[in-house]
Amino acid sequence: MAKITKTRFAPSPTGIMHIGNLRSALYEYLIARSEGGKFLLRIEDTDRERYVEGAVEAIYRTLDVCGLHHDEGPDIGGPNGPYVQSERLHLYSEYADQLVASGHAYPCFCSVERLADMREDEETEFIGYDRRCRDIDPAIAAHRVAAGEPHVIRQRMPLDGETTFSDEVYGVITVMNQELEDQILIKSDGYPTYNFANVIDDHLMEITHVVRGSEYLSSTPKYCILYDAFGWEIPTFVHLPLIVGEDGKKLSKRHGSTSFEELVKDGYLPEAIINMIAFLGWAPGGETREIFSLDELEKIFSAKGINKAPAVFAYDKLNWMNEQYIRRLPFEKWRAMVKEIADPLFDEKKYDVDTLAHVLRERVTKLSDIPEMIRFLTERLPYERELFFNKRAKLDADSASVILNELRPKLETVAVWDETTLSALLGQACEETGRKKGQVMGALRVALAAQRVTPGGATETAMILGREEALARLAAAIDYLKG
Ligand code: GLU
Repeated sequence: MAKITKTRFAPSPTGIMHIGNLRSALYEYLIARSEGGKFLLRIEDTDRERYVEGAVEAIYRTLDVCGLHHDEGPDIGGPNGPYVQSERLHLYSEYADQLVASGHAYPCFCSVERLADMREDEETEFIGYDRRCRDIDPAIAAHRVAAGEPHVIRQRMPLDGETTFSDEVYGVITVMNQELEDQILIKSDGYPTYNFANVIDDHLMEITHVVRGSEYLSSTPKYCILYDAFGWEIPTFVHLPLIVGEDGKKLSKRHGSTSFEELVKDGYLPEAIINMIAFLGWAPGGETREIFSLDELEKIFSAKGINKAPAVFAYDKLNWMNEQYIRRLPFEKWRAMVKEIADPLFDEKKYDVDTLAHVLRERVTKLSDIPEMIRFLTERLPYERELFFNKRAKLDADSASVILNELRPKLETVAVWDETTLSALLGQACEETGRKKGQVMGALRVALAAQRVTPGGATETAMILGREEALARLAAAIDYLKG
């Protein structure tokens, strides 16, 4: 019987969730789901110096908001726990002992100072450890370990031959074994290195597909040698391409926000971010469509569609995607988002949230644009005579003054301040005076907004502001134009 596909997201809690981390999590999740398999979460916290407070919480929050729910993990348990590496230390040392016993690893007693000197020594050609402790007699080494001498455990790499493995994305890769460093497996504090722990855990947790960033590609031969030393089956490797900015350089702060939570703070919807990230190295075969929900991705995703060319994270594209997602939100949900942002800005003042949400829906790129877009509604901006000038509508400050004076008594009689009444009244005003609609609406819009360009026209602006505020602004504009 074929084994059930099992993938894992194995973040190190060393900081925020970057776009790259989230892409790994998403692809791991999608490979598992598209094959009816399991997705597991493992916290890799063995690098105690780089541990960042709050990072684990950010991982949970992000996975949850994005809908990447795991089937096994520290919070929900599972058959292969514990799922936090610092709770598995005994396992790593047992397996390291096995490797020492079988000759695939050895204790190294070199001091930190010696290793540092060696690194600085320009004569040393081999970049990395010079294997000085490799040939210490095992019995003597065991004795020194038993006597409590500080040491690390290193992997004994074969000195000749080559190692070949196949990656789903990068193809067949072969390296000369002599180029592989005798890497540390267990540090002097007894903690495993990532390089050791990932192999032990992926095996014990029955991971079938190891999906991770291409920065781990060069270490993969060393992992293969470890799997072989234990006689374990090598999993399928899926290394993901580098993520770059539009200038082709590795994506970094210089390009813009690079963490999930920052992007959300910038006003992008999680669904849009996920959709964008799905395309960082993958594309659906034979489709030009770009908008896919997570549900849809779960059905069509395949590791075969992953490309090794660097993936470009283009903020313009994200903007476009976010617009698509905003336009497709159920109106009630969009209205609630607008309300949450607008309420504190309007303070205690009443405003028409429905009209505001309608007006903004087709115009907003990201949520954080809203406060500035509606500042003319939440604050009274100063008038300037030039604002009323509009050549095409044959409007200037003087003609606007006349028009507003004509409109004012009419608007003051409106009892039911709604779209039908206001539109009918303004239409009637144009007819009576023989003026062009653009001229009348233009004058009123600027009087209400004190701004040349506004999302929404005169009627919508009047509706959002409500009767009292709209009439007060009209009066203020008339007053200003008089002076
Ligand atoms: N803890 C590693 C990281 O956060 C995981 C790499 C892997 O997926 O194997 O980069």
